[in-house]
Amino acid sequence: MEIIYNVSLMQRKADEWRSAGKKIGFVPTMGFFHEGHLELMRVARKNADVVVASIFVNPIQFGPSEDYNRYPKDIERDKKKAQDVGVDILFIPSVEEMYPDGFQTKVHVEKLTKHLCGLFRPGHFDGVTTVVTKLFNIVKPHVAVFGEKDYQQLLVIKRMVKDLNMDVHIIGVPTVREADGLAMSSRNTYLSPEERKSALCLKKSIDMARDMVKKGESNASIIKKKVEELITSYPFTKIQYISICDPDTLEEISQINDKALIAMAVFVGNARLIDNAILEKVEKGDRI
Ligand code: AMP
Repeated sequence: MEIIYNVSLMQRKADEWRSAGKKIGFVPTMGFFHEGHLELMRVARKNADVVVASIFVNPIQFGPSEDYNRYPKDIERDKKKAQDVGVDILFIPSVEEMYPDGFQTKVHVEKLTKHLCGLFRPGHFDGVTTVVTKLFNIVKPHVAVFGEKDYQQLLVIKRMVKDLNMDVHIIGVPTVREADGLAMSSRNTYLSPEERKSALCLKKSIDMARDMVKKGESNASIIKKKVEELITSYPFTKIQYISICDPDTLEEISQINDKALIAMAVFVGNARLIDNAILEKVEKGDRI
């Protein structure tokens, strides 16, 4: 596995691969790899000839009171893990390399960013779409792989790719979870052992919501209230939002007809955790 720190070197490598007819798969990340990241890399491996993963903690997608300065890092461990899953290039640009003096361009997706996390993290998605556009122009991938754990991000990126005619195929990968159900996240490392127990409330409340819908409940406020009650019954928790919304537009819905997305952001101690799932009256596994 090769490590590249430099933008123009990465672009040259991508050009070489493209000229040789190679299909490039790409996994953008902020590092501190866990099984979720590695699964994305495996999916990229299956869908391309060569795989680039990037590690870049993108300052412009963090708010002033967020965790940019304490975001977990372990580059040596990441290198080993990426190598083990067959990544060909690990691209690790510096902030100066990505945002040199004079940088002033942003990519903005209008409506999808006005819901869920977008309401509480102003400018976050502009930071994401801007850096992903830059990374696409640097890595020149044919396919790029993102996690459904960040459902809104996946939707926003798909929209951006479509709207701007970017010639890259986006693949979404289901959320990878710990054995007890907690969605894997680099931020889980912020949790104390006691908080780690409480962090289970996200998945537990999502499972409860899925169960309610399967049993015939279709009133979103009734479900949200139950979810809220369950989460607040766990210590160290503070709900930022719970949303039941249209899975395509992310607009809040009051009545679940066919299917809906439940998405939430909950602080457990200092860690802001997110999770989501599709609520369906009849789930795929139930169909014969
Ligand atoms: P991050 O490093 O947290 O920015 O995540 C990089 C990519 O990994 C994004 O596409 C995330 O959606 C994805 N990802 C993060 N956690 C998980 C997970 N538990 N399961 C699947 N994908 C994930």
